[in-house]
Amino acid sequence: MDSFDRAETEGLLARELQEVADKYGLLPGQKRIQITANLGFKERKLVIDLGRDAVPSTAGAGSEQQCQALVSTSIGILQDIISVNEFFCTYGGKDIYYYHPEPPTRSAPTAGAHRQDQAPTIVMVSAGHGYFFNAVSGNWETRRPLMNGMQEDFVTPYFARDVSTQIINKAHLSVAKARTNVTTIHVPSGHPWWKMSARTWLENQYPSNPDIWNSLPNATGPDAQESNDIRARPLFANHVNANYSLHIHTNGFIEDTSRRGTIGLYQAGRTEDAVYAARILCAMKETIQANPNYATWNVDVAPRGGNYGELRLTDTAKRAALIEVGFHSNPQDAAALQNDTFRSLAVAGMAKGIRLYKEGKQCATFKIDSIPTVSGPVGKPFNYAISYSGNPTYPIKVQSEPVSCATGWNCNSFSRTVSSPESSPITQQINCTAGQPGLSGTFRYKRWLVDADGVKTAPVEHTYTCNATTSP
Ligand SMILES: [Zn+2]
Repeated sequence: MDSFDRAETEGLLARELQEVADKYGLLPGQKRIQITANLGFKERKLVIDLGRDAVPSTAGAGSEQQCQALVSTSIGILQDIISVNEFFCTYGGKDIYYYHPEPPTRSAPTAGAHRQDQAPTIVMVSAGHGYFFNAVSGNWETRRPLMNGMQEDFVTPYFARDVSTQIINKAHLSVAKARTNVTTIHVPSGHPWWKMSARTWLENQYPSNPDIWNSLPNATGPDAQESNDIRARPLFANHVNANYSLHIHTNGFIEDTSRRGTIGLYQAGRTEDAVYAARILCAMKETIQANPNYATWNVDVAPRGGNYGELRLTDTAKRAALIEVGFHSNPQDAAALQNDTFRSLAVAGMAKGIRLYKEGKQCATFKIDSIPTVSGPVGKPFNYAISYSGNPTYPIKVQSEPVSCATGWNCNSFSRTVSSPESSPITQQINCTAGQPGLSGTFRYKRWLVDADGVKTAPVEHTYTCNATTSP
């Protein structure tokens, strides 16, 4: 891209983003928004400046959402022009925290009940949004629209519930949830607990730790609790000493309802978080696309960096990623987000990605590399080996189907389960039991592997021979 194209693209961005900003309206404290766009194409970075008159009266939920609307638009505009990894909003050239410095946070972990070598590995699972109290209107409110039959606030808890099960059962890690799935009523609002924001749930769980759920005690205005809610999630993760955080959201983009698929976000500058997020995205692509109904589901495996309240406050020694599972603004995506099968595929990938990152493994295609030709005697078991690559979730099934069967023999399709993690190759046994003495046979079988998440390898054919040990 030469400098002329760059100026042209920046001009196009500024015009389009200005339109979005005007439609979005001003936040308290903002006098006027005047957008300029600055593309750093070497750093693959876009800085959206809203102008010196656009500094809102507080930094929090409102400013994050406004910035997110501009970033979403930019991603759409840039996707066919240039690959950009990081997006920032500034106000007169300065970050919002220049005007509204963040209060210091206390991130002391819970008292050391465990020695380091015995400490469990904890994943903090956070379902986006929920009901919070607007002290100005006096109502319990949500801020995400009801679109295509769903509301983000009440769809994300299902993902959080199911990914927690997967993390415990398949990745064998502990889970701490920022929102609950219990269905009893939160009396002050009259809504079930599972619909409440993390802020309200954590207040109930940690009444003597307002530093988690009320870290902005002076916040006022309709968004005050929502701003505290965003911060409560990483502060809770720090409090329980979570090694990994997974923030689950759905995406909305009403300007272009054709936008679809999964994207992932990390806090810009935290390169190891980008690796962590990429691992989750890659594993989600593998598990989701394994189902023929979602084979073309788009997962953007390159995570995007930015400045996010939910990520920024996470202890820098720990990992955090935010996954936008799909677009609730798109009818097909919204249907998938409400579909039990899609959800089970997506959460399997999330749990797998966290496991792979923890185990220091790459996201590699699950495939059979070879099954050597073997031979052995009739009536005495002999081994064959299946060499595979990738990082399947155990238990895995070895599926076998005859391609050609020697005359005089019976050949059947069958499936064997390999239940505990083995490294490649998997050793299997053949036992030829001849119906009549002196009969040798050569057989061709097609075999493939299916892991616990439903991820399949392509089938591979191999030949084996059973040699008669007695004369007819
Ligand atoms: Zn969200």
